[in-house]
Amino acid sequence: MSETLQYSREHHPEDTVVEVGEAKIGGDHFTVIAGPCSVESEEQIVTVAKAVKAAGAQLLRGGAFKPRTSPYDFQGLKAEGLKLLSIAKAETGLPTVSECMGADDLPLFEDVDVIQIGARNMQNYELLKAVGKLDKPVLLKRGRANTLREFLLSAEYILAEGNSRVILCERGIRAFDEGSRNTLDLAAISMLHERTHLPVIVDPSHAAGIAKLVPTMAMAATACGCDGLMIEVHTDPESALSDGLQSLRPEEFAGLMGQVRQIREIANGK
Ligand code: PEP
Ligand code: MN
Repeated sequence: MSETLQYSREHHPEDTVVEVGEAKIGGDHFTVIAGPCSVESEEQIVTVAKAVKAAGAQLLRGGAFKPRTSPYDFQGLKAEGLKLLSIAKAETGLPTVSECMGADDLPLFEDVDVIQIGARNMQNYELLKAVGKLDKPVLLKRGRANTLREFLLSAEYILAEGNSRVILCERGIRAFDEGSRNTLDLAAISMLHERTHLPVIVDPSHAAGIAKLVPTMAMAATACGCDGLMIEVHTDPESALSDGLQSLRPEEFAGLMGQVRQIREIANGK
C-alpha cells in the first residue's frame, strides 16, 4: 500500500465530526445512542424513544434485521420494524440507527439516519462497498475477533467508495472467560484515536452481556476518552425478544447518564 490510507491521521490530522440531524459525533462532542436491541412493537419503540430522549440520548437505536446466533431465535420485524422506528423518530425527533445485514435491503433503510454494520459483518466487503456509496453515516462495529488494523481497513472500504461519514464502535472482543459475553477492549479507544481521525464510540451492552456490568463499563469507556456510547434500553428486559439480559431499564439508563456526565467533567471535559 503506497498511498496514505484515508482513515489515517496523516491523511486527515483533525478529528472528523459526523453530523446526524442535530447530533454531532466526534471532536469535542460526546454523543449517546440508546434504544432496544430489537424493535418489537410501536408502543415499545415509542416508549423507549421518549424515555431515552428525556434522559439525554441524542440518537435512537433499534434493530429490525437481527443477526442471531441461532436461526430459531427472533430474527427481527424487518421492513415493519423499520416503519415502527420511523414512527418513533417522528414522535421524538431523534435520528435513528439500525443494522443492515445485506445490500439488497438498503432501499428499506431510506428513513434510517445511520446504517449500522454489525460485528459479524465487519469484513463483508461487498456490504462495506455498498454503504460506501451511500450519502449517509455508517456506524461500523468491530468484529469480535478482529485486530484494530483489520477494523480500520474495513472502515477504509467505506471511505474508499467516497463516504467519509464513518463512526467506529468498539463492542467487546472474544476472550476466554465465559462469565461475560465479550471483553471490552478499553485500550482500543486510545489506540484508534492515535491512528485515525474517525470518531470512536463504545457499546458496553454487547461487550458485557449482563445489565449489571453495563454502567461500570460505560463509565470506564467514558473515562478512557470515547466519543460516545451506544446502550441497549428496554422497558421490560425480562420479556425482550433479544438481548434482555444486557438491557437497562429506562430509569437505570437515566441514572447512568448522570454518572457519565460526572465522569466527563473529571476525565476530559467533553
Ligand atoms: C446489536 O447492536 O444489536 C448487535 C447485534 O451488535 P453486534 O453486531 O455488536 O453484535
Ligand atoms: Mn443487541
